[in-house]
Amino acid sequence: MNGDPLSGPITLDEHKRFALDWIERNRARFSDFNLQIWNLAEPAWREYRSARLYSDLLRGEEFEVEEGSGGMPTAFAASWGKSGPVVGSFSEFDAVPGNSQALVPRREPRAGLHPWAAGHTDPHSALGTSALLGVLATKVTLEHFGLPGRLRLFGEPAEKMCGSKPVHAAKGYYDGCDAFVVHHPNRDNSVCHETHCGAYWSAVFTFETPEPERWIDASLLPSAGPHAAARCPGAIDALCLMYTTTKYTKEAMFPHTGTWTLNEFVLAAGDATSDNLAPRFAQIQYSWRSPLLEVQQRIYEVLANNARSAAAASGTVVSVRWVTKTRVGLPNIAMTDLCFANMRMVGAPSFPDEARAFARQVQSSLGLKPMDNPFVDANEQLTEPAAFEANLRRGLPPWQRNFTSDDYVEYTWHAPTARVFTMRPVLRPPAPGYAYPAWAYNVMGGLPAAIDPGVLLGGKTIALSLLDLLTRPDVLAAAQAEFRQRTGGGVRGAQWVAPLLPQDFAAPVDLRWPEYVTTARGEEWWLPTPASGAGTGERL
Ligand SMILES: [Zn+2]
Repeated sequence: MNGDPLSGPITLDEHKRFALDWIERNRARFSDFNLQIWNLAEPAWREYRSARLYSDLLRGEEFEVEEGSGGMPTAFAASWGKSGPVVGSFSEFDAVPGNSQALVPRREPRAGLHPWAAGHTDPHSALGTSALLGVLATKVTLEHFGLPGRLRLFGEPAEKMCGSKPVHAAKGYYDGCDAFVVHHPNRDNSVCHETHCGAYWSAVFTFETPEPERWIDASLLPSAGPHAAARCPGAIDALCLMYTTTKYTKEAMFPHTGTWTLNEFVLAAGDATSDNLAPRFAQIQYSWRSPLLEVQQRIYEVLANNARSAAAASGTVVSVRWVTKTRVGLPNIAMTDLCFANMRMVGAPSFPDEARAFARQVQSSLGLKPMDNPFVDANEQLTEPAAFEANLRRGLPPWQRNFTSDDYVEYTWHAPTARVFTMRPVLRPPAPGYAYPAWAYNVMGGLPAAIDPGVLLGGKTIALSLLDLLTRPDVLAAAQAEFRQRTGGGVRGAQWVAPLLPQDFAAPVDLRWPEYVTTARGEEWWLPTPASGAGTGERL
C-alpha cells in the first residue's frame, strides 16, 4: 500500500547538508548530554532531573516548553515555529530498576546505592538524545534558510510501562500534527515496515482490609486476648490468592498462538510489622501485551474476576486503577521509504577503536577470548526495511499483524509516523546460542564511543526526514494520502481507532513506583544502601 507518487527522488540538498554539518559540529555537546542522562538512570515516572535537563536545554534553544504536560510531572511538550506544517518527534529518558551498572568493563553496580538500583537498558538515554538532536538540527536549518515549519518535541516519561503517550494522546497533544519521525535503538540500522508494535495494557489491583475484626466470631473464643483470635487473612493473602489464581487461569485466557504475555509486579505488600494484625494494604500490578485489542479486553475480564474472588476469600475489598492502555501500531510505508532513503544518504555507522578496545575488555572479564571485531556485523550495516520485516516475521503466524509493544504506537494514529531504528552496540557471541549477561549489554549502551555513532545516525535521519516533510509538499502529501487510506479518512475516519483512555484520565504518578529518595542517610535508591553486597545475608 503506497500513497501518491513523489515528484522526484529524495536527494541531499543544501538544507540537508547544513543540518548534517550542524550535527557534526555539535556532536561533543550531545555526547555529553546523552551520558548525563545515562548516569542519572531515573526510573519510570521519576525522571525529575532528566526532564529538567531537557526542558532547560530546549528553552535555551528558543522552544516554548510546557512542563508537566498532561498532568505528568516528568513529561513536557516543546514547540517551535510560527507557520507551516507541524512535524515532530519525542524523547524518552526512563531507566529500569534492577539494572544498575557503572561505566566499567566488568559487572559493577553504581557506587553508593543498592546494587539493584535502576540503569538504562534499551537505552532510552540514546533514544531521547537522537530525537533531540534531530529536532534541533531541523530547527537551526529552518531558521538559517528562513523556511516555514513548526516543530514539536514531546518528553515522554515511563515508556517501560507505556505510561505517557496514551495520556498525551487522550488529552489531545498530538492533534493537528502533520507527521512524526520517531526512534528506537536496535541491533540493526533500519526503519519499521508493516509489522508495528501491539497493545500494552496495565492495571493495579489494590486489596484493603477495612474491618478485620468482623472476620472472626468472638463468641467462640475460650479466652480473650490479642493473640488468641484467628486473624483475618487480609491484604497479603488476597494478593497471593490473586497471583496464584491468575497463574492457573492464564492457560484459559487465549490459545498458544500469536505472542502474548502477562506479567506482574508487587508495588506494596502489607507492610505489617506485627504478626498478629491483619495486613491492611497490598497492591499488585498486571501488565499484558498482545496483538489484538479484543484479546487485551478478555485478559482484563479474567483478571478482574480473579481479583473479586481473592477479595471474597480473604476478608478484603479490591479496587482497580488503570496504569495504561495502548492501541496497536499503524504502518505508513511512504514514511518508511522516506526515512530509509535518508538513512542511506547518511550511510552506515562505524565504531571507533576506543569502542572495540572497551568491548574486548568486557569479553576478557567474561573469560572470553577478545575478538578483532567484538560487535555484530548488523551494527555497522544498513538493513533494508523489507529485510528487517522478513526477519521479524519469521516467528509470527500470518494472521498476527502486530508484535510486542511500545507506546510510540499512539503517535501512529494521529499523523503519518515512521519508526527509525539505529544501532546500539551488540557484542558478537563467541558461539551460536551464547548470551551475554545483561550488564555487558547495558554498559555498552552507556559508553560514548560505542553508543554515539548510532545516536548520530538517528539524529541525522530524523533531521533529514523532517526537512523533506517540511520543504517538499509531495513528500508530506504521499504520507498523508496513505494515512487517510489506512484510517478510512484520517483522524476519526471509518477505520481510525480513538485513544483508549478517557480525556480526563489521571496518570498514576502517585503510586509507589521505585525511585531515588533522600533520607537522614543521604541520597539513596528506595531500597537502603546495604553495608555489604545486596544486604541479603548468607546465601542458602
Ligand atoms: Zn524502549
